[in-house]
Amino acid sequence: MALKTARTIGHHAALDEWRDVEVLPGSPVRSDADLDAFIASAASTHHHPAGTCRMGGDADAVVDPDLRLNGFDNVFIVDASVMPTIPSGPINAAIVAIAETWASAPPTHDRENRNGIERNSG
Ligand SMILES: Cc1cc2nc3c(=O)[nH]c(=O)nc-3n(C[C@H](O)[C@H](O)[C@H](O)COP(=O)(O)OP(=O)(O)OC[C@H]3O[C@@H](n4cnc5c(N)ncnc54)[C@H](O)[C@@H]3O)c2cc1C
Repeated sequence: MALKTARTIGHHAALDEWRDVEVLPGSPVRSDADLDAFIASAASTHHHPAGTCRMGGDADAVVDPDLRLNGFDNVFIVDASVMPTIPSGPINAAIVAIAETWASAPPTHDRENRNGIERNSG
């Protein structure tokens, strides 16, 4: 239905001036079966998975504010899974910022002596 609607809009006379040929799925693809087959081959997920190992200071958090996996001394998670809440927009830039911030000053594995370490000092 959505593909048919998009096609109807795309072929409307009001767009004649702007339209050339239909590239995808292409004019030979007409029947419901062929349209379904096109959708099955062309559709992909556009997921932005985040927050499955959220950072926090509470007992339910998976990683601490240094991104250390709770219960481990020297295991860290540095990706979108540590985001404490699900962002409302594309997340790649935020992930790069998380990774670069962490990599610029990786926490010491020595929990006792890491307090007072100047993070993000460049
Ligand atoms: C189709 C699509 C389009 C997107 N477009 C945009 C966009 O335009 N703008 C934007 O901001 N974001 C976009 N995103 C989202 C963004 O790309 C992802 O959210 C981001 O790359 C996730 O980064 P990450 O480091 O958390 O995870 P990933 O990039 O998925 O990295 C995880 C890595 O861990 C590896 N791995 C997994 N399991 C294991 C294991 N057990 N052991 C070792 N390695 C493992 C994987 O192979 C992978 O290399 C898009 C996502 C998709 C799917």
